[in-house]
Amino acid sequence: MLLEYTKHRGRIEVICGSMFSGKTEELIRRLRRAEFANQRVEIFKPALDTRYSNEEVVSHEGHSIRSTPVESPQTILLMAGDVDVVGIDEAQFFDGSLTDVCRTLASQGVRVIVAGLDMDYTGRPFGPMPALMAVAEHVTKVHAICVRCGDPAQYSHRLTEDARLVMLGEKESYEPLCRHCFEQAEAEESKRSDGGTR
Ligand SMILES: [Zn+2]
Repeated sequence: MLLEYTKHRGRIEVICGSMFSGKTEELIRRLRRAEFANQRVEIFKPALDTRYSNEEVVSHEGHSIRSTPVESPQTILLMAGDVDVVGIDEAQFFDGSLTDVCRTLASQGVRVIVAGLDMDYTGRPFGPMPALMAVAEHVTKVHAICVRCGDPAQYSHRLTEDARLVMLGEKESYEPLCRHCFEQAEAEESKRSDGGTR
């Protein structure tokens, strides 16, 4: 897919999927290509994502690119004054105003590439992602591999008891599952918790 070549540059691209699906890898790939084309690129991520580094967007594969942690989407608007391409990683952790910020940037001629989890660990649409997918020109859903059966996986199944949604994904906390295995895991867990209360 040649996303680079359009007459009008301002647009929104969304890269979504589960944990371990290669979202950040794909984001970094597109941003690198823009840099090779001598475009001015800025990358932002929510300030709470301090998983690996305060300064860089780092994929699970270890590739990285410099980024700016920001508290709110409004800050992106203020800081993206003179750029051609804006990348946003871990977009699910921003509030709903991210959608309008992305639309404003695209109207100003900026190519906006947003990566994030489309579903939380319960399988529900996550934060601003569904709205972003609706207004985007391009939506790419990438898949992990189900650790139980080997099918393409779209769910990030939580392995710990910590119920905080913002708990940041590490291999020991989540496993990618397909729909079939996710439903099976949910059923096993509700059976276990029923047994525990009686
Ligand atoms: Zn499976």
